[in-house]
Amino acid sequence: MGLFSNKKKPCPNCGKATPRLFAVKIADEMPVCSDCGKKISMAETKLAQLSVEELKEHLVWREENAKQLKEVFRPNFSADIAWTSLNIDEANQLFTLPIHECGDLKNPPIFKYEELNAYELHDKHGLIEFCNRGDATPQLTSAAHTPVILDSDRRRNSKGRQLDISRDFKLHLFLSNPYWDKVEANAGNVLASEYVFPEEYTAFLEKFSPVTFALAAMMGVDATTYVMDADTIAEEIKKFEELLDGGIITEEEFNAKKEQLLG
Ligand SMILES: [Zn+2]
Repeated sequence: MGLFSNKKKPCPNCGKATPRLFAVKIADEMPVCSDCGKKISMAETKLAQLSVEELKEHLVWREENAKQLKEVFRPNFSADIAWTSLNIDEANQLFTLPIHECGDLKNPPIFKYEELNAYELHDKHGLIEFCNRGDATPQLTSAAHTPVILDSDRRRNSKGRQLDISRDFKLHLFLSNPYWDKVEANAGNVLASEYVFPEEYTAFLEKFSPVTFALAAMMGVDATTYVMDADTIAEEIKKFEELLDGGIITEEEFNAKKEQLLG
C-alpha cells in the first residue's frame, strides 16, 4: 500500500473508472465517475447521504429535468441576477436559476412555485431584505436604509484617502425541493461612494426589485409595499441620532428622517 497503489472503485451507476482525486462522492465515501458527477444537482449535505439506489433515481430525475426544459418549461419573464437570471414560466408555475452550484448550467433544476418557502437578500454585513411564504409583505431590515454608516471606519486608508467600498450581495432561496433546501446566488455588487445616503445602494435595491417582486409573487405575497418592524424602526432612528450628534446631518435632516420612519 503506497501513495500510488490506489485501487480504483468503479462508478456504482455506470461502472466507469472513477477519478483518483476530487471525485464526487455519495454515501460511505463512494466515488462516482466524472460523467455521472457532472449530472448531479444536489446540496452537498444530501449528496453525502445518498445511497446507490438514490443516485440512480436522481440521475433519472435529472434526465427528466432536461426533457422538461425542452418540452414544458416556457419562461415568459426573466430578471437579471449578476451574470445569471431568474426565469419564470407563469403558466406552469415553474422557475429556474442557472448557477454553477446547481450543476450543469444547461440543465438547471426546475423548481415549482410551491417549493419556494422564502428568500433573503444579504450583503456582507448580513440580512437586508427577506420574505417568507405567508408574510403580508416583504420586509427590510435597518441595514437596508443605513448601510454605509457601518463602513465609515473602513472608508479611509492609512493615508486618510477616501476609498470606495464595494458591497457584495447574495440572494438566498429556501426551498422544499427533494434535492435542494437552499440555493445561494451572487446577486452582484455595487460601489458605494456616498457617505451617509448611498444612492448607488438604493439604486441597486431598486434595480434588483424585479427579482424580489417576482419571488414574492410566486409565494403569493404582495410585494408592492414593504414593512419595517418596531425594533428596526427604533434602531434606525438611533443610527440617525448618532449621525446628528456627530454633526454629519443637520437637525432638520434628522427630523425629516424620523418623521418618515414613524410613518
Ligand atoms: Zn458513472
